[in-house]
Amino acid sequence: MALNVGPLRKVLELEREKGYADRAVIGGLDKFLRRWASQAASSIATSRLLADFKKLRLDDAKYASLNQEQRRKWLDDVFVFLDSIKTEESNVKPPPKKGVTPPKRPVVPPAAGQSLELPITSLKGVSTAMAAKFKKLGVQTVRDLLYFFPHRHLDYSRTNYISGLTEGEEQTITANVWQAQVTWLGGRRGTEAIVGDETGNVRAVWFNNPYVAKSLPTNARVVLSGRVRLFGGRYVFESPEWELLEDKELVHTGRLVPLYSLTQGLKPRQVRKLMKQVVDQFAGQVADFLPSDLRKRCKLLDLPQAIAQAHYPEDEAAKDSARVRLAFDELFLLQLGVLGRKHEWQEGQPGNPVSVEKPLLDGFIKSLPFELTPAQHKVLKELLADLERPRVMSRLLQGEVGSGKTVVATAALLAAAASGYQGAFMAPTEILAEQHFSSVGEILSRTASRVEEEENLRRFSGILDRPLTLALLIGDLNQASKQAVQKLVRDGEVDIVIGTHALIQKEVNFHKLGLAVVDEQHRFGVAQRSALRQKGFNPHVLVMTATPIPRTLALTLYGDLDLSVIDELPPGRQSVKTRWLKPVQRDSAYAFLRKQVAEGRQAFIICPLVEESEVIQARAAVAEYEHLSKEVFPDLKLGLIHGRLSAAEKDEVMHKFRSGELQVLVSTPVVEVGIDVPNATVMLVESADRFGLSQLHQFRGRVGRGSEQSYCMLLAEDPSEIGRQRLDLIEKIQDGFQLAEEDLKLRGPGEFFGTRQSGLPDLRMARLSDIKLLELARTEAIGLFEQDPGLKKAEHRLLSIELARVWQPGGELT
Ligand code: ADP
Ligand code: MG
Repeated sequence: MALNVGPLRKVLELEREKGYADRAVIGGLDKFLRRWASQAASSIATSRLLADFKKLRLDDAKYASLNQEQRRKWLDDVFVFLDSIKTEESNVKPPPKKGVTPPKRPVVPPAAGQSLELPITSLKGVSTAMAAKFKKLGVQTVRDLLYFFPHRHLDYSRTNYISGLTEGEEQTITANVWQAQVTWLGGRRGTEAIVGDETGNVRAVWFNNPYVAKSLPTNARVVLSGRVRLFGGRYVFESPEWELLEDKELVHTGRLVPLYSLTQGLKPRQVRKLMKQVVDQFAGQVADFLPSDLRKRCKLLDLPQAIAQAHYPEDEAAKDSARVRLAFDELFLLQLGVLGRKHEWQEGQPGNPVSVEKPLLDGFIKSLPFELTPAQHKVLKELLADLERPRVMSRLLQGEVGSGKTVVATAALLAAAASGYQGAFMAPTEILAEQHFSSVGEILSRTASRVEEEENLRRFSGILDRPLTLALLIGDLNQASKQAVQKLVRDGEVDIVIGTHALIQKEVNFHKLGLAVVDEQHRFGVAQRSALRQKGFNPHVLVMTATPIPRTLALTLYGDLDLSVIDELPPGRQSVKTRWLKPVQRDSAYAFLRKQVAEGRQAFIICPLVEESEVIQARAAVAEYEHLSKEVFPDLKLGLIHGRLSAAEKDEVMHKFRSGELQVLVSTPVVEVGIDVPNATVMLVESADRFGLSQLHQFRGRVGRGSEQSYCMLLAEDPSEIGRQRLDLIEKIQDGFQLAEEDLKLRGPGEFFGTRQSGLPDLRMARLSDIKLLELARTEAIGLFEQDPGLKKAEHRLLSIELARVWQPGGELT
């Protein structure tokens, strides 16, 4: 296939016109180039071109980090390359003629594997309309189709004689059509057929489907798969799968039959037939990118086999081996990707060692109103040791809700500041950023005196040899304050800046960023993490999460990070009494809440999760708040918080709640993370069955932070079976790690993390609960990486291409 360089050229020309400002494509040129390169790599026809292509390193484009002059030069090189493609390609093969119908089947591949990149419209029987539907499913090329796996199979492999049919089981018969006709069934036109074999006859009906009649000529041999029902003393097949027995392989019946998750307008039979054709014709062309010794060692099926068997397995065992192979690939490529990233960060450029001032830190720790737990001490030591090294830190800090991660991060930020570096602390929501801003300010004011304060700025003296400046930077600030903070950050006059995504916008430039802390990591994608890292000076990076992830899993998903765990809570924490309640118990839940408030405690009420949309969510919360304050608790002081309030408004509500002025805080699920109000003892969650276990655990973590016994009440209207299981689990289990493991068993990894982790390759076949395979993939990836970190060896060429294909840095983030 000829490389399509047209769109790329247009983009680059636009970029040149716009003065190399990286404005030509949304999301930046690097993302665009990398994606282009990963698709182009396998279509480059000559080795000379391939060498040039590699030299340009488009697959790892770093355009954003170049200055204007460098950008101009580099783009010129790319243009030269694109020109050379044009000439070479026209030498190698004739340019595709326009307006000619696509080649008839069978397509003779120009070279093995290349036809995999053809659009599916080049397949017989795929119209543009059908292709548009497939596009919705993420399928555009023949390769995509091969990797479009069924979500499950129906076992129609058990064949039977008509006399041996039994009710309820899925079974298959081969029979003669005696008669098939259109008839009225339940008030609509359907098909009725009588078929027979040497042991007897049986009736089959298809509701609402008169078309089948036409396809079943009298005396044809037909295979039926499905269940039979006893009807008036006789068996009847109800809407069975059917297909005529011709001398080709069965697709819909008599075997393990794939079920695909389809979109409106794609018909299962049509898709199955297409898939069979594609698998038969193209699976053999997929090059196996795994080195063969590795494949043998791990006893993995070869790739063409695995793909074919994943769609049309010979039997259950073959289906399983296929899944194992494909799941291995996903995990292995994931691992190689994260290892590559880690290598690049740590070995690529030296970091900035922080010289930790022991006395200063000791003073800080002494000033705290509590003793650090041994686990906090241990983790702080790990962090400081990392900071002192010339190699950059890339560390994931896990710690149960309330385990005290913030203070540990603050100590590290202080160490960096004392050594002359800036620190950044990024939180996923404005409420949380503001809370960090005020609590970090509070902690610091114990060792230092506040000398100056503005809305989003605090200065302290007596802790460093100069005033220490703390700033808040969130999207909600007015333009003037935002620009003022940005300028202070750029001039190096801010030591620690706390904020949201606003920190990674391109207007933000640091003078000397030494340490970046990312709180509640699961809320951010890989790309956002890198964006903060790219804010110059190769800063140390600490990411923190309260989503407890089992170790193996953490090593897989965050294999680019070292791991620290705060594995104990500060002493005196009570376990939170948890109950799930049915709607009839709502009144007693309200009564209980009222009683707690009467005793001086405070409560949260979490509104139902309506939709991802913040606007709709906010509207629902307003309605709930009005109902509660007028009808249910007219005598109590209620507050409302949701994502559409301005920073000042949120701040005011939080302030009033923290100071006890408000007794009940009605909130959208935004309080899920971080909020710390020790006097709150009641957490009431509406529609609790609509949240995942980890999220419920986070809500529960908002209470039980003080010394009083706390309670979590989960209201669920009509939970599904899984919802019920989840609620039972959270009632019983307090430990976050244990809950996470259970949650993984109940749900897929995608759901486990809430929104899909952006920037990570898709996991379609891998189950993250399959620890053995995870470990195998990890061990193999590490081994291979040690041997050939750049995947430069000839035998790793295909692997390197595959890696570029699945790892598209930046993912789908905007
Ligand atoms: P998380 O790990 O969930 O982010 P925080 O850092 O918000 O937890 O800490 C939760 C609460 O516990 C805060 O009020 C904090 O001041 C307090 N805290 C932190 N460490 C300790 C400790 N060692 N002993 C007592 N309280 C602590
Ligand atoms: Mg926290």
